[in-house]
Amino acid sequence: MTRDPRYDVLFEPVQIGPKVAKNRFYQPGHCNGMGRMRPRSHARMRGIKAEGGWAVINTEHCGFHPNAEMYPEVVLTLWDDHDIPILAAAADAVHEHGGLFGAQLAYSGGFFANRLSRDVPIGPADRPVPEFDPVQARAMDKRDIGQMQDWFRAAVKRAVQAGVDIINISSQYSSVAFHLLSRRNRRNDEYGGTLENRARLLRDLIEIAREAAKGDVAVTLRVIIEELIGARGLNAHEDGKEMIEHLAELPDLWDVLIGTWEGDSPSSRFAGENVHEPYFNFVKSLTTKPVVGVGRFTSPDTMVSLVNRGILDMIGAARPSIADPFLPKKIEEGRVEDIRECIGCNICVSSHFSGVNYRCTQNPTAGEEYRRDWHPERIAAKGSEDSVLVVGAGPAGLEAARALGQRGYQVALAEATIELGGRVTRESALPGLAEWVRVRDWRIGQLNQLSNVEIYLDSELTATHIMGFGFNHVALATGAFWRKDGYGRVNDDPVAGSKAASVVSPDDIMAGRLPEGPVVVFDDDHYYMGNIMAEILRRAGREVTLVTPAAEIAAFTQITLELGRVYRHMDSLGVEMITHHNLAEIRDDDVLLRHIHTDREQSLPAGGVVMVTARLPSDKLYHELVADQAALASAGIKSITRIGDCNAPAAIVHATYAGYRYAQELDTLPENRLFRHELPSL
Ligand code: ADP
Ligand code: SF4
Repeated sequence: MTRDPRYDVLFEPVQIGPKVAKNRFYQPGHCNGMGRMRPRSHARMRGIKAEGGWAVINTEHCGFHPNAEMYPEVVLTLWDDHDIPILAAAADAVHEHGGLFGAQLAYSGGFFANRLSRDVPIGPADRPVPEFDPVQARAMDKRDIGQMQDWFRAAVKRAVQAGVDIINISSQYSSVAFHLLSRRNRRNDEYGGTLENRARLLRDLIEIAREAAKGDVAVTLRVIIEELIGARGLNAHEDGKEMIEHLAELPDLWDVLIGTWEGDSPSSRFAGENVHEPYFNFVKSLTTKPVVGVGRFTSPDTMVSLVNRGILDMIGAARPSIADPFLPKKIEEGRVEDIRECIGCNICVSSHFSGVNYRCTQNPTAGEEYRRDWHPERIAAKGSEDSVLVVGAGPAGLEAARALGQRGYQVALAEATIELGGRVTRESALPGLAEWVRVRDWRIGQLNQLSNVEIYLDSELTATHIMGFGFNHVALATGAFWRKDGYGRVNDDPVAGSKAASVVSPDDIMAGRLPEGPVVVFDDDHYYMGNIMAEILRRAGREVTLVTPAAEIAAFTQITLELGRVYRHMDSLGVEMITHHNLAEIRDDDVLLRHIHTDREQSLPAGGVVMVTARLPSDKLYHELVADQAALASAGIKSITRIGDCNAPAAIVHATYAGYRYAQELDTLPENRLFRHELPSL
């Protein structure tokens, strides 16, 4: 296939200082949980992006001194010469495929408690670190700033030694450079007050990088130009603009950012593609240097429009490059419909905060490139002539059938209902989750290209059917259902009164069975389902109270960067929120809540209750089948495997992973299924 000429502009080269990017696809720094702790994994992941056609690939935050470290968050470091080979491995992997490799050098002094190094944090002010550790930073004096600049100079030299093409100076949210630039800078020396003073460190860093790198590499700036906090912070069209005017031609490229990570990377529940354009649409008018912006770009038409309208020179995309490392290649090869579009769930972000290899709902190979040798596009050919029946076409079943089909196996996918997608179809109809349907649609598109996969809708299979079919392997991806009795994380037993007809589950709500109000939504699940149930009921006119035993509503969304928005959204809908309370009893006209620490009880009027606490696997079929091993053997069935929610209910990311892993491991001996663990060794 050939590329649509409409997209030609995306494949024009871009000059970045002394380097030339082969096209306009730019992967800005993004965390990945591998970094310095799992360097082979990190290098393989970056190399695969280059293979997928990204012209510029940057590291995540690469700290250059232990007195500004982020443990337990996993990032890269250039503290001393031992770090050089780590960066060099990634540079080599990127160069192998013709990409340019950028090191994002960052100094987060005063922003973290230095839990590992125990060094006293130094930062812009005498101020407690943002984490709740009982630690304050000491305000940097001129000597400290000078010393920091020396560390930076040494890091630039190390990065050049490692073979990087670009020094990408970080003025992101945790960096000292940014905190000086911000209006919240309260210093009264030459680094505070006027914009010129506030931008002084940035200017210094650019000059130091240029001099230390001796013109061999490009020097680029990744900088927040708008804080999204109104008059308290930097405003893109006021001092953001002045700063760009002030430094206009100094960096070789402007990589502009909007807000903190939360502002920069909103989930699709709260923002669509290209939400930042109004904040960066003027940057190109102030500089002749290339400009990069981000906005979860997955549509080639949006990308082309941004270039043709003179808004951006390069298309910055972190999450889209995680969901599909081959996005540029697919556009180049005229295979736009094969792009595995990011759904904007921010599960990838959550893994950073857990300090583990990143994962992705759409791309099950993300983070597994080295340790399991998985590749986002290629997969080993089938290991036998065996046939496989996949039962259930939710995310687990769809992905298993797709990946098995890609391997060349003869596959049948049977689905009880008349629609593919399982929970993805149901949940993408919930308010805010429309983009999640891409999990289903991409897989259907791929399955339609595979002649060795047959799909049967309206086919609710029984054990008798399965025994009679003659498939060698059976994967049961039959899903799960919500329980209504309140059993879950906090309750060891059903909640008293939970058998009442007014008690419903998310499955009931999704099927349109709404209780009368006032309604209590009891959320011991802590992700999106509880608060979306509250939203649906509120929109249907019910008085709603969202009750959770946790300290925050939707506690997990803290690490998907959604927590603040969930609060604001619930508040704007008029949902009452009660934290720290268990649901102790359901009575005729009210419920009894009990404080999880003090046991103090309170009553809340309630006509109905929605239980969002736990699910039960739909595994009846599995148990029927495995009960008679002799019958299985005589039916020629070699294996029966539960995957996805039918095995253990979890998020959609776990289901696609389970489906892919099943397909990968069908012909692998269990002892060979361990992943390569990058451990420090003696
Ligand atoms: P997962 O997240 O694990 O993929 P889902 O709940 O999304 O699980 O999907 C399970 C799918 O399995 C649903 O579409 C459901 O209709 C289907 N299913 C359940 N039982 C059977 C069965 N006996 N035969 C065929 N399909 C089934
Ligand atoms: Fe996009 Fe979700 Fe994948 Fe992150 S995890 S890249 S947000 S699909």
